[in-house]
Amino acid sequence: MSTQKDTIDFGFETIATEQKAGKVRAVFDSVASNYDIMNDAMSMGIHRLWKKTLLDRLSPRPGQSLIDVAGGTGDIAAGFIRRANERGSDKPAHATICDINHSMLKAGQERGLNVKNPDAPYQDQMTRVCGNAEALPLPSCSMNAYTIGFGIRNVTDRDAALHEAYRVLKPGGRFICLEFSHMITGSLQKLYDTYSFNVIPWLGEKIADDRDSYQYLIESIRKFPTQEAFRTQIEHAGFSKVRFENLSGGIAALHLAWRL
Ligand code: SAM
Repeated sequence: MSTQKDTIDFGFETIATEQKAGKVRAVFDSVASNYDIMNDAMSMGIHRLWKKTLLDRLSPRPGQSLIDVAGGTGDIAAGFIRRANERGSDKPAHATICDINHSMLKAGQERGLNVKNPDAPYQDQMTRVCGNAEALPLPSCSMNAYTIGFGIRNVTDRDAALHEAYRVLKPGGRFICLEFSHMITGSLQKLYDTYSFNVIPWLGEKIADDRDSYQYLIESIRKFPTQEAFRTQIEHAGFSKVRFENLSGGIAALHLAWRL
């Protein structure tokens, strides 16, 4: 059951709830062409290790189906296919990348068409669809796995998105969310705040000529619920065995659950 209010956070701003999707869309339209390079610059490449841990936990197998929601340029989906294929290619795995922004999907498609890109060989096992995490364009009980990387924070109605995740998963299906989170000690959080509030908007300006989008990014991280509160929210959507794992001292966290 959704508990949407009339107003909502957009970073540190409070806006009318119906404005959020449009404002988030504008952020990702603006960052799409520089998204991958900025991801590496901001995290000093560490987001790749976090995604590797996500894939380790997912343990993809041939024949499985994944929906990667808010999938952006598709690196999680490509990693899923690569790992499944390494285990055997008799029954090909398939990944659906669902994102609300055409511009992010297009940036991923262009990346996939570039033969020099390591994700290029997996494109024929991937489908890109434009859609909202709150109303997924997929039948119920159709997927083995659901992932969402750095996406749930941007969704207007988080409860609706979690219920959709539950709906599209088959019984026995795996849910894994990777999201920025909160550091495990106050002193580390202070250090990280100093870095992120000073360096990230500056990098946004220098690399992507877009300070505001990256200011939103770090503010939205601070507004995201704690690891424990988000775990409870996932349980309320019906998931079982919900747990979380802190990554890099809580800069990010994986939330893992099962639809039983
Ligand atoms: N998953 C990719 C990654 O880990 O690099 C992309 C993450 S990017 C920070 C967030 C993505 O969420 C953007 O591509 C954006 O378009 C998408 N997004 C935002 N709101 C969404 C929604 N309601 N439904 C689906 N996608 C959404």
